[in-house]
Amino acid sequence: MNNCRICGAQALIKSDYPDAHFNSKVFAYLNCENCASYSVFPSPTDDDFDKMYGEEDHYYLKDITGTLTYKHNYPYANHHGYQIYYLEKIKDDLSGKTLLDYGCGSGFYMDYAQRLGAKVVGVEFDQKFVELLRKKTTFNLFTFPELKLQIPNKTFDYIHLGHVLEHLSEPKKMMEELMEFAHKDTIFLVDGPLERNSCLHRFYVDIGSKLKGKKYREAIPQHLTLTNKKSQLLFFKNLGLKKEEYAVVEQYFPLTRKIEPSIGKLISFFIASTSILISKLIPNSGNLFHYRGKIDKDHI
Ligand SMILES: [Zn+2]
Repeated sequence: MNNCRICGAQALIKSDYPDAHFNSKVFAYLNCENCASYSVFPSPTDDDFDKMYGEEDHYYLKDITGTLTYKHNYPYANHHGYQIYYLEKIKDDLSGKTLLDYGCGSGFYMDYAQRLGAKVVGVEFDQKFVELLRKKTTFNLFTFPELKLQIPNKTFDYIHLGHVLEHLSEPKKMMEELMEFAHKDTIFLVDGPLERNSCLHRFYVDIGSKLKGKKYREAIPQHLTLTNKKSQLLFFKNLGLKKEEYAVVEQYFPLTRKIEPSIGKLISFFIASTSILISKLIPNSGNLFHYRGKIDKDHI
């Protein structure tokens, strides 16, 4: 029996999302009757994960000669831009503090945090990617098993996960393992998508999908959980974290931010732009979240 990856309830029923066909398997989107998030099952195997996130996933790094540099000039309503915006908001506190970036990707977030005076450490999933990153950057980098082995008793003042949780088959377990690297005042910063949250953008995409009436899609099910504001907050609360800030914002993706000579694309651009404007007026409307919280001392 599959449990909801977000709240743990055994209350999953088939959703109206089309299945994803990938690696000769069928991945289904199951709706949780308790928290209204979607969980994707079956859980990907190691082979599925390797094919989902092969070397091609970070091919862009291979072509870079010398050290990787970061421009931080993100376009309007872009997920990296929002991550940097929330980092800027805490810059006065960040200086001199330690920050662990779990799922650091190219290292853009660590670079910005370092510029603000933080002492940063990065973790990535794939050994080969970590080795490649070490060649292209000067950051302190580990795989998670390496981190646990090499600095097991280290704690960090900040732990960041940017667009990571939705990729995990056991997000709760991963957070609990990360909490071992926290002291009583560690601040958790978490950013990610809200793919079941209401906004005009989501409504348009869902209607489009229903009208197409596809039974399945040829797609890579990289996101194993799809959440809304309420289910995402419940997830953090169940972990024993106390919310200090929770914001819902909106990005263009998966609709387009480009004006292109096609009626379909123009409508998409118009819907996405209008939806972003509406979400600025309605606090709970949007497709991205930013969470800041600490271990709840009353909870322990
Ligand atoms: Zn649930």
